[in-house]
Amino acid sequence: MAFHRYDVVVVGAGGAGLSAALELAGEATVAVITKLYPTRSHTGAAQGGVAASLGNVEEDHWEWHLYDTIKGGDYLVDQDAAEILVKDAIDAVVGLEHMGLPFSRTPEGKIAQRRFGGHTRNFGEGPVMRACYSADRTGHMILTTLYQNSVKNKVTFFDEYHLLDLIFTEDGTCSGVVAYELKTGELHVIHAKAVILATGGAGRVFKITSNAMASTGDGMGVAFRNGVPLMDLEFMQFHPTGLARLGILVSEAARGEGGIVRNSTGEAFAARYAPTMKDLAPRDMMSRFIHQEIKEGRGIDGKDYVLLDLTHLSSETIAEKLPDISDFARVYLGVEPTEEGIPIQPTAHFTMGGIPTNNDGQVIRDGEGTVVPGLYAAGECACVSIHGANRLGTNSLLELLVFGRRAGKQVMRDLDSLEFATLPKSPETASVERIDALRGRTSGHRAPEIRAKMQESMTENLSVSREEAGIVETLGVIQQLKRDYSDVTVDDKGSVYNIDLMEALELEHMLNIAEVMCQGALDRQESRGAHYRADFAKRDDVNWLRHTMAYKQGQGLSMAYKPVTITRFEPKERTY
Ligand SMILES: Cc1cc2nc3c(=O)[nH]c(=O)nc-3n(C[C@H](O)[C@H](O)[C@H](O)COP(=O)(O)OP(=O)(O)OC[C@H]3O[C@@H](n4cnc5c(N)ncnc54)[C@H](O)[C@@H]3O)c2cc1C
Repeated sequence: MAFHRYDVVVVGAGGAGLSAALELAGEATVAVITKLYPTRSHTGAAQGGVAASLGNVEEDHWEWHLYDTIKGGDYLVDQDAAEILVKDAIDAVVGLEHMGLPFSRTPEGKIAQRRFGGHTRNFGEGPVMRACYSADRTGHMILTTLYQNSVKNKVTFFDEYHLLDLIFTEDGTCSGVVAYELKTGELHVIHAKAVILATGGAGRVFKITSNAMASTGDGMGVAFRNGVPLMDLEFMQFHPTGLARLGILVSEAARGEGGIVRNSTGEAFAARYAPTMKDLAPRDMMSRFIHQEIKEGRGIDGKDYVLLDLTHLSSETIAEKLPDISDFARVYLGVEPTEEGIPIQPTAHFTMGGIPTNNDGQVIRDGEGTVVPGLYAAGECACVSIHGANRLGTNSLLELLVFGRRAGKQVMRDLDSLEFATLPKSPETASVERIDALRGRTSGHRAPEIRAKMQESMTENLSVSREEAGIVETLGVIQQLKRDYSDVTVDDKGSVYNIDLMEALELEHMLNIAEVMCQGALDRQESRGAHYRADFAKRDDVNWLRHTMAYKQGQGLSMAYKPVTITRFEPKERTY
């Protein structure tokens, strides 16, 4: 076993982890551990844009952006946090430009902006151009820019190291991590004064998803196993336009540039449901409209998908502004988007909930905001909560920049009072036992089979529309799969690039996350944002204007609640 010591360990090299690391670089010793090569992080797959009310193309104001974020999140957003997000947005985007990010440009050379779902002018009057972009490769450009700057600023990277556990001292201070080196199978203890989790989302819990293979919720799972609650996990975003059956994302930028979704009669049906915003209604709504059309038999050929029509856009617009996603349609479905509609259906996309933090990235353990010393989280694995019950497109890349930096700044402030605590004796023991058990068993359940059953059942019953019987069924499936997991075994017993082992470790987290999602969805007897209960179709502010906090309790769960912070906008009916 190898031992290292850094002031700060950041787990995850996506936009959130790198933003935090960059904030600390040069001021403290920083190690970033990442199970993927950094530029393979899911941030690199983000297509459409990053929001900021620059007003480069049309008049815009942060107050409008704030209102849209809160209304888009169906009023479950903590409004103080959202205000920080939208105000800091401008600085964050300009900061990226100064780091060298090649944004697409307006004819006068300003950062170009385009429309995106739920982003409006003057508190809901119609769509506004707020998304800054680099063609449809915005995330790729952000990730490579942040990575280059991290290398330049001498951040130390541990590439292809898998987080196994957090180390806590007796008084509950987080003081390091245990990691597994994929190349060799060696274990590493990294002793630190502060640990920042930035491990991304958990879309892989579902069968049909836009998320990368690596989006398995590891940071959430490890924190949860160590007694940290998970917040609002019943809110999973389903993006309306995934390639049919594959789930690969066709960015909202396609509709931002004028694309229209049509049913089997050719009708542009979104206008019927959302007369002002039409196809740019927020994602939870667009996904429900599609679900409804399909349910009423207006899917294409009676099947479970509809068409995204780009044929009226010029071939220059498609080639210049949507090059990658039009290629996805060609390559994966054999569809030529300049000539025919692209078959699409909702796909599991974004984990609104996660590890609860305050506005400075400090992880909190309860509804009173009690801080877990030494532990921080940022990005999709965290829940601040700025997305509430439904995230607006382009607000996530923004979150990585704004709250990644804030977490870094807070660690910087805390470093004066934090020390290298005395570690418990053999902090790696539990991880060694876990791995030995997986590798040592000669018979037992196989991880890929358990995973497939989980994903199947989650997509079946926890998707765009949910109701009690289905949720109860899936909760039962997950609980059985957790029992099956207790004797899970891996075929590869080796130590060099043992992906089999890594996937079995990820599965433990996904099963726990799936269970929390089910329990939260079952308990929440209302419809809010992405959580739509067919049997409780109305929002219920009297009983449910509150965040869910789920705790691990033995083999089961206990649920508690946390109030929503409302500063400027009182909840009202949500129409578009
Ligand atoms: C296809 C797609 C398109 C999107 N488009 C947009 C968009 O246009 N605009 C927008 O705002 N948002 C978009 N999003 C959402 C946004 O991209 C993500 O929410 C965001 O990139 C997440 O960033 P992150 O830094 O939190 O995590 P990620 O970028 O997912 O990175 C996670 C990091 O954690 C590491 N990690 C995970 N587990 C472990 C472990 N056990 N041990 C060590 N390291 C670990 C990984 O190696 C990786 O480096 C999109 C998402 C998808 C899937």
